[in-house]
Amino acid sequence: MWGISHSRDFKVYSFANNYSKDLLKWAYDNKIRFQDIDEILDWAKKENTNDPPYILRIKKLAKKRRIVRSHMYTLHMYNKKKLMKVINAQRYLSKNYTKIIKGKNKNYGFIDEETIKDLRVIFKYAYNKLLYNENFWEVYDAGSPVSNETIRRRICSKIKICPYCDKSDISSSEVNVDHFLPQSKFPLLSIHWKNFVLACKPCNDSLNKGELCHLPVLHPFFDEINKYIKFEFKSECKTVNIQTAYKKGVYRSRAENFIEVMNLKERYIRLWPNSLEKTLTQSINSAFHKHVLYKGDYNKSKWERLFNQIIQENKIDLMDEAGQETQIKLRLDFCEHVRSNDNNLWLQHLEKLIHKRRELVASINEHL
Ligand SMILES: [Zn+2]
Repeated sequence: MWGISHSRDFKVYSFANNYSKDLLKWAYDNKIRFQDIDEILDWAKKENTNDPPYILRIKKLAKKRRIVRSHMYTLHMYNKKKLMKVINAQRYLSKNYTKIIKGKNKNYGFIDEETIKDLRVIFKYAYNKLLYNENFWEVYDAGSPVSNETIRRRICSKIKICPYCDKSDISSSEVNVDHFLPQSKFPLLSIHWKNFVLACKPCNDSLNKGELCHLPVLHPFFDEINKYIKFEFKSECKTVNIQTAYKKGVYRSRAENFIEVMNLKERYIRLWPNSLEKTLTQSINSAFHKHVLYKGDYNKSKWERLFNQIIQENKIDLMDEAGQETQIKLRLDFCEHVRSNDNNLWLQHLEKLIHKRRELVASINEHL
């Protein structure tokens, strides 16, 4: 079921935020103009007991990793004004992550395209390589390096269902670490742990969030998505439609954007819950037969209670499977659909059964 949080498992990467802060602070405070990348290495080798901790950390990394020196060189070429914009953006984005998702921010787009391009290169590298490099973990005193694979396994042992679609079992299929807010538009969030979501492969592959990043949007870690969306069912053509549960307001827009970005309409339209439909039909039918045909009980209001009870029991069984089985929200909504839409159909069926039984009793009496 949607709405399960596992972002805290990615918190192991929170030191990555400190790294980016250090890098930007160094670029801002640094007064030396380097001619080339190698000069940064010479600078890093010079030990100075007066160096503040963030300089010591940057020096350690710069000594070991040429790519870090290259990123430092790029950033040190920026003027103070530009650097301040980047620092402010970084601070704003990591502090106000949930506000951005809710569309409450107004200013996240204040860095120019060229700077975004540079940052994309720097942070893409940090995400792909540095996050798993032991020098990086050591310098930030973050314990032993944990591979992406280990994090995935850890999450999959607790959470089985894809938090984007509620449709795939991530514990048995190939999974990916997705950036909820795309790296192309938010490079500064590339190594921000709150932005990591473990998703099924079809979600990660088929969604073009880079282009479709509409804000405000629901987020599987911070919103109970079940509350804001609902399924509707068309029995004549056996199609499923996913909708927002709110008629207006910001939650409506957030839910609409979520449905669109995750491409849920298309992915759910043919997911008619056949086996649940069969189970419900069988339980209602057998209850009706048992009471009407065998016991001759015609009390209609009692029937309605029994009908509701059967639906309710099925819903409770489904709730027990939440977090273990896919498409629970779809099936819960289907139960409600049967309760509200099919109630009359079942009552007509009941009338028929009563009639049938009366005929049967009459014909038996005739023959006696
Ligand atoms: Zn998925």
